[in-house]
This record gives sequence, C-alpha cells and structure tokens, in this order.
Amino acid sequence: MENYYVYVYIDPRNYEEFYYGKGKWNRKEDHLKSSDDNEKTKIIKGIQNEGLEPIIKVIARGLTEHDAFLVEKTLIWKLGKSLTNISAGYFADKFRPHNKLHLNLSGFDYEKGIYFINVGEGKHRCWEDCLTYSFISSGGAKKYSDPFRKLEIGDVVAAYLNKHGYIGIGKVIEKAVPINEFRVDHKPLNDYPLKEPNIFQNSVGENSEFVVRINWLKTVDRNSLKERKQPKHFISRLVKASLDNQPETIRFLEKEFEIDLHELLVNSNYADPIISAIIKPMELEISKNNYIGCILGGAIGDALGAPIEFLSYEQIQSKYGKAGVTDYVEHENGNGEFTDDTQMTLFTAEGLLRAWHRSVLKGIGGAQTAITFQSYLRWLYTQGVKVNITNVNNGVYDIEHGWLLKRKELFVRREPGNTCISALQSGIAGSIELPINESKGCGTVMRIAPVGLVYKHDREIAFREAVYISALTHGHPSGYLSGGFLASVIADLANRVDIQSAIFNAKNILISWENHSEVLRVIDLALELHENYKNKDLTNKEIEKIGSGWTAEEALAISLLCALHYQHNFEKGVLLSVNHSGDSDSTGAITGNILGLILGTDCIPPKWKEKLLYHDIVEEMGLDLFIGCKSYTNDIDHEWLEKYPEF
Ligand SMILES: [Mg+2]
Repeated sequence: MENYYVYVYIDPRNYEEFYYGKGKWNRKEDHLKSSDDNEKTKIIKGIQNEGLEPIIKVIARGLTEHDAFLVEKTLIWKLGKSLTNISAGYFADKFRPHNKLHLNLSGFDYEKGIYFINVGEGKHRCWEDCLTYSFISSGGAKKYSDPFRKLEIGDVVAAYLNKHGYIGIGKVIEKAVPINEFRVDHKPLNDYPLKEPNIFQNSVGENSEFVVRINWLKTVDRNSLKERKQPKHFISRLVKASLDNQPETIRFLEKEFEIDLHELLVNSNYADPIISAIIKPMELEISKNNYIGCILGGAIGDALGAPIEFLSYEQIQSKYGKAGVTDYVEHENGNGEFTDDTQMTLFTAEGLLRAWHRSVLKGIGGAQTAITFQSYLRWLYTQGVKVNITNVNNGVYDIEHGWLLKRKELFVRREPGNTCISALQSGIAGSIELPINESKGCGTVMRIAPVGLVYKHDREIAFREAVYISALTHGHPSGYLSGGFLASVIADLANRVDIQSAIFNAKNILISWENHSEVLRVIDLALELHENYKNKDLTNKEIEKIGSGWTAEEALAISLLCALHYQHNFEKGVLLSVNHSGDSDSTGAITGNILGLILGTDCIPPKWKEKLLYHDIVEEMGLDLFIGCKSYTNDIDHEWLEKYPEF
C-alpha cells in the first residue's frame, strides 16, 4: 500500500529541522503528545513552553513502507549529525557510518571478490610460511605482483597449492606491501625462522615480492590433500583469478572447507564478526600508538636537540664526540626535557580539541583558528608573559580552564621563539589578509602536527587550517605555507599513505597557493638529496645544503629529508635531524612527529621514552588526539568537558 509519507519537524524559533519520521494517517502528530524523555520531546516541550508549536511538514507522500523507510533514512544520514533521530534500524547497514568517511570501505568504495590465488610454492615460497605468518605473496616481476597488489581488504582468497589442490580459505586484512615493509608483531619477516628464506631474493624495486596479510579462516594439511582431478574445479595458470563466475568451484570449496563463502563476502568489514574481531583491535591499537608516537616522537626529537640548538656541528662534535649526540645530554641523570616546540604543539592540540568539542556540543564549527589562538595565549601565560588584553577580540581570555594549565611542569621557559612571544603578546591574531609581521621563523611548522591529525580526513583542509593557525603568529607566506605543508603530510600519514606519496600530495596543494616558490624549492632539494643518497647514509653536510632550519621552510625540508631517508628507523632519522649546525630542537621535533606517526610508539627506543621528563603529558595528548571527542550531541562527557571546555 502506497499510503506512507515522510515528514519533518521544524523548530519555529530558528527554522532548524530537528526530526524526520515516516508514517501514515496521523502518525506525524503523535510526537506532540509524547511524554518520552528524549531529546526530540524536550525540544517540542521547549517550543510549546514558549507558546509556539513545531512546524510539521510532509516531504514525500504516496510511498510504500519500504520506500518511506529509505527516504527517511537518507534524510537522517545527510543531516544526521544535528538531528534528534536515533539513526539505526532499517537500512542502517546499507549506509556508510559517518565516522568512516575518511576510510575506503569495502562494499562502499570498492567491491569485494572471491579469488583463486596460487601459493607459488617453489624456490621462493613455502605454504607453511604463509600459514605461520598470515600472508600470501607474489613477486619477481611486476606482472606477478600487480594482481596481488589489487587485492583489497575484505576480499576472500582460496589458496591453491600447485600439484596438490586448494589448501586454504582466507580473508585479506591488509593490502599488499613490499616484503621489506611487511611486519609481524612490529618485526620484519626476516627476523623469523622461515622455511623458505629465499623469499627475500626479490626485495627491492619493481621486482620486489609483495606481501598481503591474510586471515586464514580454514586450512587443510597438505598431506591430506590428494591431487583431485575433478574437471569442474577451476584452476588457473595465473597467480590470481576471479572465482565470481565459478559456481561449481565455489560449491566445492564451501563443502570441502565447511565455510559459507557468500556469507563471508556480503558482510561489510565492520559488520563481519570474524574480520571485525581481527581488524578492529589492530586498527585501534596501531592508530593509538601512532598518534601517541607522533606527539611523543616530536617531544623526544625536541629534547635531543635542545642542548645543541645553538651549537655548530664542529662544536657539537668537540663537546659530544664524533657521532655528535646519540642520547639526551642536558641533564646529569640522563633525562631529556622538551622545549617550547612541544609546549606549543600541546597547546595547538588543546585548541583544536576544544574547537572540536564545541562543534559537537553546540553544533557550531568554524571557530578553530580563534580557539587555537586562545590556547596560544594560555601558552604565553605559562611563559610568564603578559598579553595586551585590550586587543584580544577573539573569544575569551581564559587562563583558568583546561587540563594543560593545571600541569605546572609546563610553566617553564625553554628558549621560546621571539616571534611567537611578541606576536601573541600583542593580543592580536594575525591572518593572511592582515599579517601580524613579516616573519617566517620555524615557529609555525614545529607546532603544527596536531592539525594534520585532527583534519586527517582531508589533506586540503588540513593544509588550509594549518595555514590559518600558522598565520596567527607568522605573516610571511613561507612561514605559513610550511605549516600547511606539514599538516597535509601528517594527515596523509595518519591514513597510512606512504611518505613519498604524502610529500607529493602536499606539493600539489602547495602550488595552488600564491607565493609558494621558496618553500617548493627546498622541498625539491630535499627530495633530490634523498634520491642522490639512495642506499647511503646522510650526514650533516647534506642537511646543511638545505640550510640551518631557523626558517620554517628549511626546518620543514630538513625534517622531511631525515624522515624520508630513514622512514623505517626512528633513532637514525631523529639523530640525523638534530646533529647539524642549526635549529636542532625544531628539526628534531618535526622529524620526531613524522617518524613517530609512521612507526608508532613501539619503534621509539624505550630509554628515550622513559627518560623524557613529563612524557605522561605528551602521551596523554597523543591519546586525546586519537580519541578526538568523548561527548556526543546529546550526551556530554563531563571529564572531557573539564579537559576541553567549550566556549
Ligand atoms: Mg625550542
């Protein structure tokens, strides 16, 4: 019966839509009399208490119940964040979850398939290794690895062992990576006793072996396999082939392995109990460690570089030996201490998290620059510097609230940058249109990493927001564009884009901004140096070809070079970034942000974590950035409100 309609409730006080529903007859009026204790009823009562009534309008009519559900669900999805509807029920599994917009989801962004894959056992591979370390691999030439590189998370694979038969059914849980980048419990595959170590024979460049992580769901022992010459079973000479049109083979596999392959496929990753059990903890664990790694890594690089910030390379060597500093050298007991670079990074994070919280609670976004400016004024307060209050016109000057101001360890001056101090002291928030000064000091880029973490869903937004936040204190385009560049790189890295591609993507955004040539030049120089020293170690000489890092674009380029060159080695990358004649703590902080994010906390030497003073503060902030916001529109988390009060 096509007698259903979809309706909307509108608040007559502000004309905002606050509820969608579907029904027939007089269903749409029912809510007016409701005595439920929910958000919708509260709004209706609020309207009625002011002597008004909600505006109720039918949006679509003459629908079947099924269609009405679909229309209702679509409207709720589109405007869902500000509605009082509880969005679940019908079609819930068919709509993309809002908090997954930044991910490529199987079933939404790509289709999954069932594939025949050849284990390729022989001189380079052994099935038992695949099983023990949960992978499948192919390589030796691009034509062999390409098909495996196209496997997507959620694809189902049926592994075939030549001369034996089908030996295992599994689901792809991580896309293909070159074998050198594949990790098992954070360790490279060649750290393990492999039955066929020759798999590493092809491990560089185009011919590299590519490894796909598989959750093997059902396998059989090779000795129980008999070569079954059954003509109905699909077998291919290719390394990979689709089984979509092989119903006989699918039926055979389902029977032999006692598994429902279609059931495996139709469930999206996140609804699939098997996959979600595997993927979710891993995803959470890794991302949490990566976020914490980003802030902690920055603080460690900062602390390593702090004592040698003003020394030439020769002075560093004569004081600390030929290799320069290889550990914390500032405090007698071997402790390290971060400086203004990390302090300001923490306050950047605080500002963004406050803005985020405000947008959730009030439904108003867009104030992040002003709110971050307020956080910088709180940092200024920790430095014992008075702000010219009469000029502060952006929000409230709040030197009481939030958790950072309760941490007295932050009330210490650690060679803060003059530009930041004097710009903030004026109480005026700088912008691109009204530059606060002509400075391009590295104070922009050293504090900006949290912007990339918060706006990781869109690198262009990350770039732009970081530009605005940088321009609060630095008026020169090279100053604020460097901030934008790093935020874009960080946003990509937070999505597990590799660092080369992340730099490439940021360059594409950079060139769309005016006055970018100075930044572009040093970035290209860094890329060239990396290329020229492939498979060789870099030294301070190459770094000093870029500059000393006192300016934003030099600090950015030096840090990108160190992180790119040692993208698998936190220790090497960060030590290189501090041992040069220049702004060691800032280049150390930025390099540490990048490498900590890529590699996560587990790849940071434990002694550097333990001996870093106040490491609990930076770790807590990394975790908070990972969480983002604990409150919901109608459900305030009071602990979070204490930490990140709204305005
Ligand atoms: Mg410093």
